[in-house]
Amino acid sequence: MSSVPVNVSSIDDEAAADPRGANLKVWLNGSIVPQDQALISVFDHGLLYGDGCFEGIRLYNGRILKLMSHLDRMYSSAEKIRLKPSYSKEQVAAAIRETIKANNLNDAYIRLIFTRGVGTLGLHPFRCPDPGTIIIVDAIKLYPQELYDQGMRVIVAERPRIPIECLDPAIKSLNYLNNILAKIEAIDADVLEAIMLNTEGEVSECTGDNIFVVTGGRILTPPVSSGILHGITRQFVIDEIGPSCGYEIVEQTLMLEDLYQADEIFLTGTAAEIIGVTEIGDKVIGDGTVGTVTKHLMDEFSKRVKKDAPED
Ligand code: PMP
Repeated sequence: MSSVPVNVSSIDDEAAADPRGANLKVWLNGSIVPQDQALISVFDHGLLYGDGCFEGIRLYNGRILKLMSHLDRMYSSAEKIRLKPSYSKEQVAAAIRETIKANNLNDAYIRLIFTRGVGTLGLHPFRCPDPGTIIIVDAIKLYPQELYDQGMRVIVAERPRIPIECLDPAIKSLNYLNNILAKIEAIDADVLEAIMLNTEGEVSECTGDNIFVVTGGRILTPPVSSGILHGITRQFVIDEIGPSCGYEIVEQTLMLEDLYQADEIFLTGTAAEIIGVTEIGDKVIGDGTVGTVTKHLMDEFSKRVKKDAPED
């Protein structure tokens, strides 16, 4: 398929928002403020050290998809970095709804951020008494429809995913440089996503998406022990979307060879949803089109989130 330029207005999860000028209302530490007044201190350790955590969440037709799962993961990330959030889950959920209302959006991308807060220039995280809380709700731009129809080209990043024992990828931390450097490899190769291996050479995930393969009628995805973010969309596909399409999905360690020999590959993420991969570097996957299993799962996903599915 033809190569997709990287400067299209596409998203991956970490670039999902569509800045709309100075109109947005941002929830910042308890107040809703215009975006040009949503400012944080240069002494916030979120900025100085990437010390904090975040979530990307979707609003479909006025309903927030998997809000509790996102809040659970957010508070689990916070706990793993010993950051005590300033607000409870219930308060944050209410603040998200308030921010959605203030921006009058029905379909949106929601970014929730906890920063360590203002401290000194030193690393000491516990000298930052007030963790920051930020909620941004913005319109979402999707990958071009062409990529959903025809599949996506990706590369394998040379840079491995950071090992669990150094910084567990299960923590959705504000320090995304490992992913950003792999993303730069993708951009340099004129594609939008890169598959990352762990330091053992096992497939882990992509810079902003989880990965699945369809092979000999089975659907497989790397286990959490391969060093991945526990994707909410990944879990949705494993627990609900797959089974309702009649597929069982198995967590299994995957090597690059398993990807090259797969019949189909697809990625999952809050922003990307489910998207097929048809080429990895110069290797064509399956017959080079988005496969029937992937399409089936994409259809089921759309049905569940875009119609009258209840909020969970
Ligand atoms: N892996 C990484 C590294 C990510 O940043 C994301 C997106 N947040 C995902 C996987 C997909 O996770 P989710 O389905 O929760 O968006």
